[in-house]
Amino acid sequence: MTATVIDGKAFAAKVRDKVAGHVARLKEEHGITPGLAVVLVGEDPASQVYVRSKGKMTVEVGMNSYEHKLDADTSEADLLALIDKLNNDKDVHGILVQLPLPKHLNEDLVINSIDPAKDVDGFHISNVGLLGTGQKSMVPCTPLGCLMMLRDHHGSLSGMDAVVIGRSNIVGKPMAQLLLGDSCTVTIAHSRTRDLPEVVRRADIVVAAVGRPEMVPGDWIKPGATVIDVGINRIERDGKNVLVGDCHYDSCADVAGAITPVPGGVGPMTIACLLANTVTACCRANALSEPEGLTA
Ligand code: NAP
Repeated sequence: MTATVIDGKAFAAKVRDKVAGHVARLKEEHGITPGLAVVLVGEDPASQVYVRSKGKMTVEVGMNSYEHKLDADTSEADLLALIDKLNNDKDVHGILVQLPLPKHLNEDLVINSIDPAKDVDGFHISNVGLLGTGQKSMVPCTPLGCLMMLRDHHGSLSGMDAVVIGRSNIVGKPMAQLLLGDSCTVTIAHSRTRDLPEVVRRADIVVAAVGRPEMVPGDWIKPGATVIDVGINRIERDGKNVLVGDCHYDSCADVAGAITPVPGGVGPMTIACLLANTVTACCRANALSEPEGLTA
């Protein structure tokens, strides 16, 4: 293996420390405690785990955590009424509705009912538009985490060829916007892309957000390229359940200049960026200068 391992776990701990420092300053100098409200509808086991760990880390950095657990059959009207209440609550600076929602709820309608200034997931249509036009926005957490790691590793990304594999609204598209914002030449690949291996071979930066275990082998990677593996796939190997990314780690690490592992790469950065976004939202809501290095 020749690649430098980009340690997302350690980087995320640094981001959380930085967030904790800003939270302490907000309390001491302004008497403000940033607050994050997380809304969970139903009992999806994976969502319950995510919500629990978000709540725990929110409290660990000194912020207030408000958890709202609603029954799986909650009506759209009741969910929208709760969001309206949180939108108008001055102690709540960030609102996150855990996805996926039960099928009877309209996800777009629910997300777009969140006050864009409190939309710490960055999924509201206003934030998507602001990001796309290069204006100050709330930036989706997973791509923000990828961008932070890339900036930390490379300094400037200007002029680099970047290929994002995947065009989802939560990862692929905002990732491409962020890379474009940092002056990369960006290609977005997807399931209909012709000759994907050749497209990926051109890239100085490869971000894989596909959801297919170990789909990208090392011989697709340009020697020295940086590989950011967003994929989280549970597979069975040698009778054990293991987590793997969208890239074949060993073969990619033999060719790449740098690579994020799975687990321990992008994953931990996502929650750290959620906390960072909450502090940023809190500073903006109170017309205070926002912390440097915690958003795009
Ligand atoms: P998604 O909404 O399912 O999107 C997957 C994308 O991959 C689609 O755009 C799809 O193309 C493309 N794709 C599928 N098969 C392909 C192929 N053979 N070749 C090229 N492109 C292909 O997934 P997502 O929500 O973006 O998530 C992607 C992965 O990241 C998942 O493993 C997920 O668990 C993980 N994830 C991790 C984090 C984290 O915190 N680390 C956060 C979010 C997601 P089409 O559009 O053409 O169908």
